[in-house]
Amino acid sequence: MYKIKFPRIYDHHSHLSLHLLFACCPDFSDCRNTEEVRLKCRELDRSSVNVGTGWTGLLDMADKAFDDLPPLAVINSSWHGFACNEKAAALLGANGVIVEPKTAREKEMALPGLLRFFSRRCSPQSLRHDILKSETAKLLASWHKKGIYGAEDLMCVLPEEAVALWPAAFRRSLFFSAEAANGGEGDRKLPPPKLKLFADGALSARTAAVSEGYLQGEKGILIYGDRELTQIFSVCMKNRRPAAVHAIGDAAIEQVLSCYERAACSASAETPFPLRLEHCQFIDEEQAFKAKKLHITLCMQPNFSADSLTYADRLGEAALKRNNPLRMLIDKAGFVPGEDLLFGSDGLDCGSATALQSALFPPFAGQRLSVEELKAGYRADPQYGFAELLVDPDKKSVIYA
Ligand SMILES: [Zn+2]
Repeated sequence: MYKIKFPRIYDHHSHLSLHLLFACCPDFSDCRNTEEVRLKCRELDRSSVNVGTGWTGLLDMADKAFDDLPPLAVINSSWHGFACNEKAAALLGANGVIVEPKTAREKEMALPGLLRFFSRRCSPQSLRHDILKSETAKLLASWHKKGIYGAEDLMCVLPEEAVALWPAAFRRSLFFSAEAANGGEGDRKLPPPKLKLFADGALSARTAAVSEGYLQGEKGILIYGDRELTQIFSVCMKNRRPAAVHAIGDAAIEQVLSCYERAACSASAETPFPLRLEHCQFIDEEQAFKAKKLHITLCMQPNFSADSLTYADRLGEAALKRNNPLRMLIDKAGFVPGEDLLFGSDGLDCGSATALQSALFPPFAGQRLSVEELKAGYRADPQYGFAELLVDPDKKSVIYA
């Protein structure tokens, strides 16, 4: 076992606003019957949609008992969808939010749609300013302890007044979801300052577009058609707006690269807009060289190397081995940590201990990173101080000292 002083890190893929929103919303995960739900709703706003968290599926939101409650949409425990009562359904539907997703693609688009709708209508008051303030302080203090000095928010879901409470290093880079702009508010014409798109789904839902498919038979999904995606990239190109595209599977990465290339070609005279690929866990060698040539930045999560173990129940051996090919990207395709290869946590298991453990002790050798590479990719900076970490090579673990 040895001790290491690790400079505080900048998390390039994080979800501060989602964590805060969920911390401030009523939590329904402990509700066992309709009466307990009703009790929690006593102080909610009757004139607009209220968002809650922790829907477990034990109760049916279509139950008549919920009809006279304020409009209520409750996000499920896996953060992958939501259930709502009739009043909320009517309000959301009228604003273009997908309430009853019929396809996997619609399902992927529903939650960002709800969050975007909510963020535009909620004020810090309706979020209870006092709670928001204390939750912000609490969360940032815990991140500081975990060795984080700043972060990019990859799907900002809070209004400006709420974001104003954050230190500058957390406000510098905010991305806004494009899927959520489907509500007819015209965002497609002028994308937000930094655009976040989803090209495929997630491994947890077996919707990430991994070309081998899943052991259970699913193939994964592409959210956009080629024409639609090229069109979005052309708009970004014209307005010089940076975009970050969530693309986990190689089929999604392939689509993003070819649509970007097409959009860049047709905009001949202009220099392409800055594009970032988020996660790109199943990028292959050919795609890596192409991305490098197109000056695309990759933002990856060293902690997702563990997916090679976590998802052994759904991915074949070959796919598990292809996950997070960090050595190929650095040694063969020439990506440089801190320049065009950035690291972040995706907010689930953030902090320098998890990052270092994932870098030093991944499931496969091709996922290993040196301490220096990790520091560079996370833009670790001693001027923000250090986290003291204990590395145990025998247990293959890193913990805070
Ligand atoms: Zn994310």
